[in-house]
Amino acid sequence: MKLKTKLVLGLSFLFVVIVTFGSLSFYYINRLSNDSKLVLKNNHESLVYSNNMLDALENIQINKGAEGLLENNLRKQESNITEIGEKEATQELRKDFRELLLNPGDSSNYPQIRHSIHIINGINQAAILRKNEIVEKTAEDANFWLTIVFVVLGIITFTFVINFPSVISAPIRALNEGIREIANRNYHKRIHLNQNDEFGELANAFNTMAEKLDEYQSSNLAQLRFEKSRIETIINQMRDGIIGLDTKKNILFLNAVAEKLLGLKEAEIIGKYSADVALRNDLMRKLLQETPGNELKIYADNKESYFNKDILDVTNNGLVVGQVIVLRNITPFHELNEAKTNFIATVSHELKTPISSIKMSARLLEDERIGKLVPEQAGLVKSIMEDAERLLKITSELLNMAQVETGNIQLKLQPAQPGVIVDQSVNAIRLRAGQKNIALQINIPQNLPLIQADIEKTSWVLINLLTNAIKYSPENSPIQISVSQKNNSVEFTVKDSGNGIDEKYLPKIFDRYYKVPGTHERTGTGLGLAISREFIEAQQGTIWAQSTIGEGSVFGFSLQTK
Ligand code: ADP
Repeated sequence: MKLKTKLVLGLSFLFVVIVTFGSLSFYYINRLSNDSKLVLKNNHESLVYSNNMLDALENIQINKGAEGLLENNLRKQESNITEIGEKEATQELRKDFRELLLNPGDSSNYPQIRHSIHIINGINQAAILRKNEIVEKTAEDANFWLTIVFVVLGIITFTFVINFPSVISAPIRALNEGIREIANRNYHKRIHLNQNDEFGELANAFNTMAEKLDEYQSSNLAQLRFEKSRIETIINQMRDGIIGLDTKKNILFLNAVAEKLLGLKEAEIIGKYSADVALRNDLMRKLLQETPGNELKIYADNKESYFNKDILDVTNNGLVVGQVIVLRNITPFHELNEAKTNFIATVSHELKTPISSIKMSARLLEDERIGKLVPEQAGLVKSIMEDAERLLKITSELLNMAQVETGNIQLKLQPAQPGVIVDQSVNAIRLRAGQKNIALQINIPQNLPLIQADIEKTSWVLINLLTNAIKYSPENSPIQISVSQKNNSVEFTVKDSGNGIDEKYLPKIFDRYYKVPGTHERTGTGLGLAISREFIEAQQGTIWAQSTIGEGSVFGFSLQTK
């Protein structure tokens, strides 16, 4: 049944109750009113006429008009005969009154007239009493039936009032509860109303919607699960260690490689604060230090491996939602690099002896005691000497680099006079500076403190800086070599007026094999400054460069005083 029909029926029922009760009350009130009107009309008026006739009879001797009054009231009484016996009593009265009119002075039939009037009076009084009883009975009936109808209809209406609202409120409550469950993502919720009205239709629509949501969620979940397991598989298959952290640095996941490297199981540390894990795990501590690109040597699985650490921010819509620490396995590159270093070391070492003997032989050829050379021959020998010199420099740089790369720098630290280092270095390059007509301006103050240094390696660095300064300066431009004391260290600087270096290349010039793009000199290896930095830093010193393109460069290093 439709909700509208139910409402119409419910309200119609109430209407029927009101109409029934009202009609019944109206009926009884009407009946009582009619009964009392009848008493008033039929009997009370007759009593009034009787009384008027008695009064007229009393005054008939003294008042001539009393006869007319009596006649008048008798006539009214004759037309108001309503009770049994009243007609006969009235006819009797008429007869007596007629006789009285024939003999107005004769008062002998007065008692007879009075008697007839009293009979009429008595009949009407008795009728009034009787009718009063009937009215009382009717009132009692009305009371009885109205009470019964009131009680019955009252009970029905009360039951109806109690039950009818639930026809509307119960399904609304069920729907409300269902909607709340859906809002809480309980898509299994269904509403069973078993009614064919609008609420039933609403419940069906709700169930269809919940079913669709359920299907959607299941398919979404399945998709998400599939994606998750796919990503997990990829992460676990990788040769790199991967650790995921949330924004609060709690551990979200780690793959099999990371488990092996850390020596921890994922289940043990998942959800834990990474800094807490780092307290008892050295590798985790190193990983959390925010210095990317560090090479880490890790001993795991009975072998040494090399990893490069990268910390990547995971972002979503521009917001950082976590971090991923990637431990890139660089062991194969490391092994190749080691092989390259060994190869370079071996080759440079093997080349050094033959090159030295070529140099020696060329020098012998220059000796006139062996034989005089024609000018062309002397030129060729000179060029052999220069090439051998250059080759020796390259092999020595390569050897030094191999030492640096294998971590085999052997330092002979000793107290040294800065002036001695400068003299040694300047002597080594004086000839070369002379060839380009470059003046060397040396500025060394008196009483410089001794420094703690490896004289040979420090001289090597200074020679390298001076060689570069000559190499990258035009002819006739001076080079300044200065030494000065700075707090607990002594600073060596080499200033040239050469081409200078573009600012953007400056941070890279100390990198291995790096040559500034567009450098005209083709002879360098790009290793000199890299080795210089290693030598100086191995002695706890610092090395730096300043340069302005077109104006020249200043290279400097400082070493601690003894
Ligand atoms: P190289 O053997 O090529 O000189 P270095 O490591 O000594 O290698 O120098 C690296 C690069 O720095 C050079 O290729 C050169 O471009 C630049 N450089 C070094 N010193 C100077 C300088 N005094 N003036 C200009 N450029 C320089």
